[in-house]
Amino acid sequence: MAISAQRRVLTLEIPTPFAVGTVNLFLIDDDPLTLVDTGANQATALSDIASALLELGRSLAEVGRIVVTHQHLDHAGLVGPLAAASGAEVCAIAGLEAWLGDGPGGNLGDERFAVELLVAHGAPERLGVLYEGTRRGLEGFASSQAEVRGLVDGGELDFAGGALRVHHRPGHSPFDTILEDPEAGTLITGDAIFAKHPAPVLPSPPGVGMPADDPARSGLFAAARRTLAWFAASDAEVALAGHGERVEEPGRVARERLQEGELRAEQVLAELTGAGPTTAWELTRGLHPRWSLRQPFHALCPTLECLDLLREGGVVVEEERDGVRWFACG
Ligand SMILES: [Zn+2]
Repeated sequence: MAISAQRRVLTLEIPTPFAVGTVNLFLIDDDPLTLVDTGANQATALSDIASALLELGRSLAEVGRIVVTHQHLDHAGLVGPLAAASGAEVCAIAGLEAWLGDGPGGNLGDERFAVELLVAHGAPERLGVLYEGTRRGLEGFASSQAEVRGLVDGGELDFAGGALRVHHRPGHSPFDTILEDPEAGTLITGDAIFAKHPAPVLPSPPGVGMPADDPARSGLFAAARRTLAWFAASDAEVALAGHGERVEEPGRVARERLQEGELRAEQVLAELTGAGPTTAWELTRGLHPRWSLRQPFHALCPTLECLDLLREGGVVVEEERDGVRWFACG
């Protein structure tokens, strides 16, 4: 895919072991030859990447730099083996270095926090235990990488053909990093925005990757709205997304996502009205009876996003009783 006369960005669509299917890695055909994201830590992913590079007329040994957009296993899992096989330097937003150095540790922390969040918002303990069981062993798809060069928000990533701008825009995860080619009007966005559906907001424990200004829920939901507003103000022509097809006019798509978010909040408010104090889990069960059992954490998060928006608007009040959070119309 040509994005400018000087610099091409090529897509490598690599299978993952997860429900999401494939992940898009991006090869920035410049000096240094740069790969954005890695796939999961599987021998097959390493050989898939090597084959895809050969098809593009390049080799693993030519990759001089790896940039990681965020910590999720389908994007950063293979970072250690890929850096070792290529000899490339690894770059990630400041704060993500420690995570990558720790290998599976950060991922285990995320999984534990997901269970805590479910139970604190009213899911039965036994569901938390069941959910934990379905996630057990996934951290094996992580790897560790000790040497990582930290990138800063607003900084630049140098190339012979001109620098890319680095943006730290937490929302989907606390570490979400976006690379911008201002000349080409192109963004490389990881999982921050998608063409066909909203980017899920998946909190990490408070303080991971961003200030712990909301100890109950990590503050990521508010950050996700700020990131959508940032996209909405952008005049980029295209966003190269980490899954699925590229996003044409990401500014327009972000404006639609913000409106969809307000509509979802109205639906949550309608469920809450007249119901008396209730938990986010009960609301989620009512709104998504099947999804909430299949993917309880992923189904709960959009409800929390709506409740945070309603609480900020003064429409909903929240209180904690015996470790469980209750919501009611204010
Ligand atoms: Zn992700």
